[in-house]
Formats: sequence, structure tokens, C-alpha cells
Amino acid sequence: MALRGESVSGGIAVGRAVMLRTRHGWVARLPILPENVESECARLRAAAARGSAKLSALAEESAAAIGGDLASILSAHAMIAIDPTFLKPVERRIRREQINAEWALRATAEEIRERLAGSSDPVFSARGEDILEVARSIASELSENPQGFDKDAIEPGAILVADDLSPAQAVGLDPEQFAGIALERGGVHSHAAIIARSFGLPAVVGVAGLLDLAGRRRPMIVDGDRGVVEPAPSRPQLRRALERVSQNREREAAASRVDRRRVRSTSDGTRIAVRANVELPAELKAVERFAAEGIGLFRSEFLYLAAGERPPTAADQEAVYAGLLTACRPHPVVVRTYDLGGEKGWGPRDREASALGLRGIRHSLAHPELFRDQLRALLRASGKGALRILLPMVSSPAEVTVARRYLAELAAEEHLTETPPLGVMIEIPAAAVLAAELAAVSDFFSIGTNDLAQYVLAAERTDASVAAYYQPAAPAVLRMIKWTIDAAKEKDIPIAVCGELAGDPFGAGLLAGMGVRDLSMSPVLIPRVEEFLAAHACSELETLAAEALACSCAEGVRSLSDRWTGGKR
Ligand code: PEP
Ligand code: MG
Repeated sequence: MALRGESVSGGIAVGRAVMLRTRHGWVARLPILPENVESECARLRAAAARGSAKLSALAEESAAAIGGDLASILSAHAMIAIDPTFLKPVERRIRREQINAEWALRATAEEIRERLAGSSDPVFSARGEDILEVARSIASELSENPQGFDKDAIEPGAILVADDLSPAQAVGLDPEQFAGIALERGGVHSHAAIIARSFGLPAVVGVAGLLDLAGRRRPMIVDGDRGVVEPAPSRPQLRRALERVSQNREREAAASRVDRRRVRSTSDGTRIAVRANVELPAELKAVERFAAEGIGLFRSEFLYLAAGERPPTAADQEAVYAGLLTACRPHPVVVRTYDLGGEKGWGPRDREASALGLRGIRHSLAHPELFRDQLRALLRASGKGALRILLPMVSSPAEVTVARRYLAELAAEEHLTETPPLGVMIEIPAAAVLAAELAAVSDFFSIGTNDLAQYVLAAERTDASVAAYYQPAAPAVLRMIKWTIDAAKEKDIPIAVCGELAGDPFGAGLLAGMGVRDLSMSPVLIPRVEEFLAAHACSELETLAAEALACSCAEGVRSLSDRWTGGKR
């Protein structure tokens, strides 16, 4: 049975499923043999005992550190974890349904929560959340490798199957090990999806029912072209899919023989620079393969996420930046200073920050020691190529002024007479509105349409329940973009777009029509954007942009897009 989801990255993959334990702590429903039922129950009891012991220890620690309230909650959780009235129904479910302990735990805890939620007594309904929390702690003990899976045990060409993926987990993956990715949750605009795309692997997200149907090590098909996953394919389906895999390989081999120094333009010869969005140095291969004109956005926060609990040292960072600059020369490399916080939380406190919390430049200014280390590393590497520094999540000119002061102080310490151009991401509505004032203190702008859309439309980019509201080409977003472009032109500073809208052929056409001549996107998206731009004259794109800007709703822009692309996006 084919399962529908949303395509994040095209192509088709066939491989055996590898199930990744995710931040939500649950795994798939796996049938077990009748003779293994008792050992599965014993596994559950042992995990519950370990979980309970850990919770008690945590309770003691927190009593010493922060006093009573949290400690008493944790002690209560420790007791629930080994309470037979909770564990017995889980065991009964394992025996009755002959399924794995993790799944039985989840199903039972959710059932209890639902029952308690119906109670009119708030104490009882809150108890349901406690039960779920306890079940999660036990599930984490059940996992042999709480961080995810044993990377060394993965056969090459596997399909990564998970509920969802945090950016930190995504960045820890080795794309060489996988043929494709399928996620039950996740949105196309999440950072995990952006990374999956940058791997260039077929990927489909938001596949409801995936974990129920996928089986560990069973062959499956991920069709990124159609946004479909086939968790239990028939032989003819497998054969057809494998034929497509080999056709794609041949096409890719032909594409890799293209001229790496080519430039892109519209059909009337208007030059549009097409650069790459990169998260990790390993993606340099893709920058070269798709002949990107340098890096238009290096998301440096992934260096922090990949480094784990400790920040990368200034020396490690310098080596990475120098490597990027040398590889891309003579093209520019735009390094965005780290945009940690929110979805890209680093450390337990950060993870709690919301999209409106301490992110980007706000995080940097709150942690000047980290920020200055990064700026120093950038300055030290700056001689290796054409470096530009970009500040994320700016909402006022004062933030740019402080960053510029740090940069000048550090440059003096490093005996440098010049500092690299310092630019600003326009991704908060306040920044777009103040574009003229920001242009007065910035050397260039780069529009982040992913966040700009989220904040203009008040629709979180990772929340599937508001996915229909999250429309980066909605007229309200387009008008803010146009306002920003006009302000940059008026003040005569360069302007680029590095949000995902630039990697969509129609979106790129719209942006070119509004006057943008510098676009940055996941390298795999370059060929289709290039093709669309080359097929249209600049004057046509200007008419298109004017029509889109005049629309009153996102549906109007979508029907324009369907007309221009024949419904293919
Ligand atoms: C954006 O917000 O458009 C952007 C490019 O940055 P990120 O997706 O990393 O938030
Ligand atoms: Mg952003």
C-alpha cells in the first residue's frame, strides 16, 4: 500500500529500512514471535527498573540543586515507573498483540492519558501527562542505543525511517550510508528537511502511518518525485523502481560532465548569480557538482550542532572557513554567524526556546564569548578568499552596530586593516520594515524567505497543523520582499535571497522579476532553477512579478505558478 507524504527531495530510492529512534522517543510497532513474548516482558521490567532508579537519582540531585517541587514530581515518576498497575497492562498488551515493548508502552500510556483527560478533575487529567512522560523514560531505557542507532551496523544503501528528525540528529547522519529518507512527521520547511535535501537523497516527510507499516530491515521504496513511500513493495514494484534508480544514475553521470564554470542568465542574457546553501563542509562536493557560484549561505550553526555539547574551538572553525573559502575561490562564501536557538537548540536550555525566543544574533549577543570566538575565526580565515559575514535574525540597526564594533575590535587585535563585508538577513518583519535604516549600517542584504514567511504569516514552519498557512509566496510576504529590494536599491547595497523560495523555479522567476540578481539554494535545486530562468526573458518575469504582487491571496499566486510551470513544481 503506497503512503502519501510531501516530497522534500526528488529521485527514487530502494533499500532496507533502518529505524531511527527520534526526539519523541518512540519506535515502530514490531511483531514478535510467540516464543519471545516472555523475554520481551522481562526486557520491559528491567528497563522500567533502570528508568525508575535514574528518576530517583535525578530527584535527589534536583532536591539539592533547586529544592522541593521538581524533586517531588520526579520521585512520583520514579514510583509510577515500577508500579504494577501501570506495568501489568503493558505486559498484557505485549502478550495479547505479540508486539514489541516500546509500542505496547506507547499504546498503553496514550490510552491511559486519554481516559484521564476526560476527567473533570484537573489533578487527574494532568496525571495523564505524567504517565506519558514516565513511559518515555522507560522507552529510552529500552533502546539499546539511546542516541539513535548503531551507525556501524547500517548496510550501505539503507532507507532511514523515523518519526521525525531534529536538526542535530540530521547533521549527525552520514549521507553516504543512506539511499533515501522517509519521516512520519516533519514539514518540508523544517531544517531537517533542508538538510535531507542538501544530502541530495530522495526524501519524503509527513508520511502518516509510516511507522505502523515499515518493518526493520524490510525493503521499501521512497519516491521523492511523487512524494510517496511504499513500505512493503511487491516484486514488480521493486523491479520498476530499480529500473528508475539506474536511469537516474545514468542521467546524473551525464550531468556531472557539464561545464563547471558556466554562468546563468535569463533568455535575454540578464545574469543571475546562482549560489549554494551549505550546512556542512562535506557538501562542498555538491557545490562543485552543480557548478554553484560559491556559497550564498553557510549555516555555521551546524558546526555547533555537529560538535555536540562543547562549541567548536576558534582554531577548528578557522580551518573549516579557510577550507570553504579556498575551495570556492574566486567566488564568494557568505558565512552566516551561528543561528542557534529554537529548532536548532544547542544544549538543554536552548531547546526550550521557541521560534520567537533567543535565536540568531540575539543568542550571539547574549553569549559574546562564543560570538567573538566565531568572528575571530572568520577574520583569521578571511585572507583565503572572498568572505562575507551575514547576521541572522536581525530586528534593529543597533544589533548590526554592536556586531560591527566587535568585528573592528577583533580586527585590530588581529592586526588586520580591513574587515569583510558585513550583511544582514532580512527574515523578521521588523527588519523588512526598517530596510532603509538597516541598509545604512549594512554592506549587503540577504532575504531569508523561510523565516520571513513564518513570522509574517504567524505560521510556524515546522508545525504541520498550520502548513496550509505557511506560504512563502503569499502576497503579504512578496510585498515585504519587494519593499526590501527597493530599499536596498535605493541605498545602493547588494541584495540576495537565500530562503527556499529562491530554490523553487517559479519562486526564483518571481524574485528575478522583482529585481534580484543573486540567488542561493540547495545545490540539488540548481538545475531546475537554471532551466526556468533560461526559458524566460527578464521582461516576462517582471510582468509575472507584478501580477503576483497584485494578488490578494496565496491561492492567486498558486494559480499563476500552475499556469507558468504547468503544475510542475
Ligand atoms: C531563512 O530563514 O530563509 C533562511 C535561509 O535561514 P534558515 O532556513 O536557516 O532559518
Ligand atoms: Mg532563517
